Amino acid sequence: MTESIKIVILLGAPGSGKGTVAQYIRDRYNICYFSTGNLLRNEVKEKTSIGRRVENILGSGGLVGDDVVNEIVEKNIEKVAESRKVILLDGYPRTKNQAVVLDAIRSGEFKEVIRVIELDVGVEEVVARISQRRVCAKCGNTYGPMDGVKVCSCGGELIKRKDDEEATIRNRLNEYEKATLPLSQYYSNRIVKIPGNGTPKEVAHKVDGCLHGFGIEKRR
Ligand SMILES: [Zn+2]
Repeated sequence: MTESIKIVILLGAPGSGKGTVAQYIRDRYNICYFSTGNLLRNEVKEKTSIGRRVENILGSGGLVGDDVVNEIVEKNIEKVAESRKVILLDGYPRTKNQAVVLDAIRSGEFKEVIRVIELDVGVEEVVARISQRRVCAKCGNTYGPMDGVKVCSCGGELIKRKDDEEATIRNRLNEYEKATLPLSQYYSNRIVKIPGNGTPKEVAHKVDGCLHGFGIEKRR
């Protein structure tokens, strides 16, 4: 039953432009967008049994563990499995172990329909990008150097976030690399790497080509 659904996994370091690409795909393609954050919030909102567990964990200051996240992702994939949809997974899997769990759903039925896009941006470029990023103190809008503005459209002042200091960025990238390298190696025969540098238009064009290669076409 490989004609069922397609699962696209989007990987990219902080600052790689993953958020922009995810938004682009959501705008142009008919897809179910599953980000770990969204899925967790939904369960909590709908007060499902997993949702109540998540609420308890978060309420006591804990972190939602792999097992709970795996369960939620599997449940949501099952929900749309018969509708031949394309699922975009953002923020999952985060580790090789999660990827193994994902492959094992329905005794490996979905394994063949999983494809991975990784946005490949060099560390120095990400550092440069993020350290030039500014955030509106009033509304939280983010601006990059390409936007060329000094004040937010809401009139708020643009400031640099503490998280966007160079040392913090390098730390975050290190952590990301440590977790993701085994993951992208695991997916080596299902992954397409897209250089994340270049204009948003160029990146979008490459994403289109990549999805086309997976047999996924734009919304008409
Ligand atoms: Zn603003």
